[in-house]
This record gives sequence, structure tokens and C-alpha cells, in this order.
Amino acid sequence: MSRLDSFIRRMTAQRTLLDAACAEAASLDGPILEIGLGNGRTFDHLREHLPGRRIIAFDRVLAAHLSCVPAEDDLVLGEIRVTAPRFAGIGAALAHVDIGTGNDALDRQTLEWLPDLTASLVQRGGIVVSGLPLDHPALAALPLPDSVPAERYYMYRRR
Ligand code: SAM
Repeated sequence: MSRLDSFIRRMTAQRTLLDAACAEAASLDGPILEIGLGNGRTFDHLREHLPGRRIIAFDRVLAAHLSCVPAEDDLVLGEIRVTAPRFAGIGAALAHVDIGTGNDALDRQTLEWLPDLTASLVQRGGIVVSGLPLDHPALAALPLPDSVPAERYYMYRRR
């Protein structure tokens, strides 16, 4: 499979799972978290599908398209490992976690803290959609739609 095909599959899986997660989050109170704002594409998708909801976005630097810059109070810049713990207990309805790099060594380091952090941010019954597998006792893996290939993108419910 070419890298282009692989990229398209990943983005398609991402959108499919975000759409499913937004449908669930619509009936839950609590903010939405975009962990890895990047260019702002998925932030834009989340705000389109969950209009009026508070979306708090995290990244080390602001590099989003001008049309996708969150409100000042909802943009948290800096290392997520340092900035996000102060939001523990916020009871997010949905967290989209998109900070994988494709570099196995870097991603392994991230996975030393990311599952715990994510579990601390999401309410019981809340949804997590992630580009990296989050192995944590409080995060139950949800079955993926048939159209989403295994290990391309992940979805969990907070126990
Ligand atoms: N969701 C974005 C979109 O659709 O446009 C793409 C996110 S991009 C794959 C990952 C982003 O996460 C990058 O902008 C990077 O700066 C940020 N990031 C990765 N690891 C981080 C960390 N440990 N702390 C802060 N930001 C991080």
C-alpha cells in the first residue's frame, strides 16, 4: 500500500470514529478536548458536528489555519504532559487524542504518560478517540465499525 493510500485510510478512519463519537457526546454534558490541535482540521470537524460546545484545544505551539484558531480561553499551549494535568477531573464528554508522530520511539515515550492523563480528563461514560492505542484499565476499547481497519485508529469508553 502506498503512503498516500495509508494516509487516506487513516484520515477516513479518523473521520468515521469522530462522527460516531460526536453522536455519542451530543447527549453528554461536559467539554470536548482536542489534544493535538495541529492544523485545526479535526478541531474544525468537531465544532461543526458539536455546535455550541466548548472545545479546549492543546498543542505545544499554535500552527492552526487562521480559520481554526480556538478562543483564547480554550487554547492551551505548551507540552501537553505539563499543561493538561491541571484539567484533571474536568469531565470531558469526548477527547480526541491526536499526538502520534509515526516515530515508534517517540510514541513509546508518549504512551508512558498519555493513557493515565487521558483517563483523568474524561467523565465516566465519555468517549476517547485516539490515533495511538491507549492501554488503561479505565478505558474500555469499543468495537470499531467494519470500515475502520484494525490498529489504524482507536475508540474507548471511559469506565
Ligand atoms: N488534529 C490535528 C489536525 O487535524 O489538524 C493534527 C494534529 S498533529 C498530528 C499533532 C499535533 O500534536 C502537532 O501539532 C504537535 O505539535 C502536537 N503535539 C504532539 N505531541 C505533543 C506534546 N507532547 N505536547 C504538545 N503538543 C504535542
